[in-house]
Amino acid sequence: MPVTLLNWIVPVTILLCGAGLISIGYLGFTTARWGHALCVLAVGYALMLFETDRFTPFKQIVEDNFILLGILLTCRALQKRLNLKSSVPFDVALMVSSTTMIAISLVIFQSVRLETFFVQACCALALWTSALPFSKLARTRADRLLAATFLLFSMLLTFQCLLFIAAPDIDHVVGAWRSSIWGNLIQYTGLMGSIMLAFAVMAATSWDTIEKYRAHANTDPMTNLLNRRGLDALLASPRGRLFQNGSTAVILADIDRFKAINDRFGHPFGDHVITRFGAILEAQAGPKGCVVRLGGEEFAVLLPGSSLDNAVATASRMQRAFALERWLHIETDDQFTASFGLALVKDQESIADAIGRADRLLYAAKRAGRDCIVVDHCLSTDCKDCRREVNGYPACPDAPSI
Ligand code: GH3
Ligand code: MG
Ligand code: MG
Repeated sequence: MPVTLLNWIVPVTILLCGAGLISIGYLGFTTARWGHALCVLAVGYALMLFETDRFTPFKQIVEDNFILLGILLTCRALQKRLNLKSSVPFDVALMVSSTTMIAISLVIFQSVRLETFFVQACCALALWTSALPFSKLARTRADRLLAATFLLFSMLLTFQCLLFIAAPDIDHVVGAWRSSIWGNLIQYTGLMGSIMLAFAVMAATSWDTIEKYRAHANTDPMTNLLNRRGLDALLASPRGRLFQNGSTAVILADIDRFKAINDRFGHPFGDHVITRFGAILEAQAGPKGCVVRLGGEEFAVLLPGSSLDNAVATASRMQRAFALERWLHIETDDQFTASFGLALVKDQESIADAIGRADRLLYAAKRAGRDCIVVDHCLSTDCKDCRREVNGYPACPDAPSI
């Protein structure tokens, strides 16, 4: 049967999907690998359209290897997203065994049915071995979408493979393969799969881009910590509920007389001090804590599920670690210090209100002479009157550090 324009739709569409992904790769998106994989696949599907009059396994081997290679390249593109290790020996072994089985099927058994079964089984194996580890590690929506697409392909191909080997009435004439029902099924499954893959890759890439710019907008570039906007986004997100349920401590921290540091040692050194201060706060806040640069040299630390005792101890460690920091870039033995305001989020109180209270406590600490931690109930009285202890911890100036 001559090849019709309709038959060419399959490889041409796959090729266009691949070329589209390669070209948007030039715009800065990470789609080129996917595009190359689809182009290789398109060559395999195009070769399928040419039917040979005389029997030769060579054409089938080349065509099937292009298809398997295209599938392997999509699998590697998938693994690359999560930097999963890909195994070149596995790929080579799969291609060698597929080639051997195809040759045996065609030369010894003269069976297109067996040949197609083996190449599809190898494609399904390649898909499963990359889709399963990937789906276990997929966290973002983009990764989950790709994992779902790959798992769907793996299942479809496995099902098609079983159907193909189990179906009784098969037109397995070498040379008339393309026009058979199975040839059409494979062509159109490949077409649908490639279109779905191209859409999934575009959707995942767009999602990645949105997330990248969202992260940029929510992150302070100097310290790599969240900025105020990032804090709002965090509190509005599902993870933000962690801070609103149960006891959360809010610590507001500000470097003392920072303007003088800038004036004496220069702005770049000031930047370095701010960055170090942020890093110290983050190290002390622990993995559950959240540190936000509110602006300038002022930071907020949220400690979910923290008691007052624990929060004061944490603030105290932050205060001490910063004071003990040695500044090698400048010739001074000066200690830089910071002041802290600490509040526990009350029932029915918003985090924003608790930050407002902690901010007033921070100012109380500044008024009280700096280099100190002022805790919750200092607010109601003059800070100087409650310099003794809060829950056994020093809360005000002059009190020894823990
Ligand atoms: P206090 O002890 O009362 O907090 O006094 P302070 O000098 O630390 O506070 P003040 O608000 O008077 O000065 C903060 C200075 O921080 C003013 C501003 O120029 C400087 N600043 C704000 N952002 C940055 C920054 O990103 N880098 C540097 N190097 N300086 C900054
Ligand atoms: Mg300051
Ligand atoms: Mg300040």
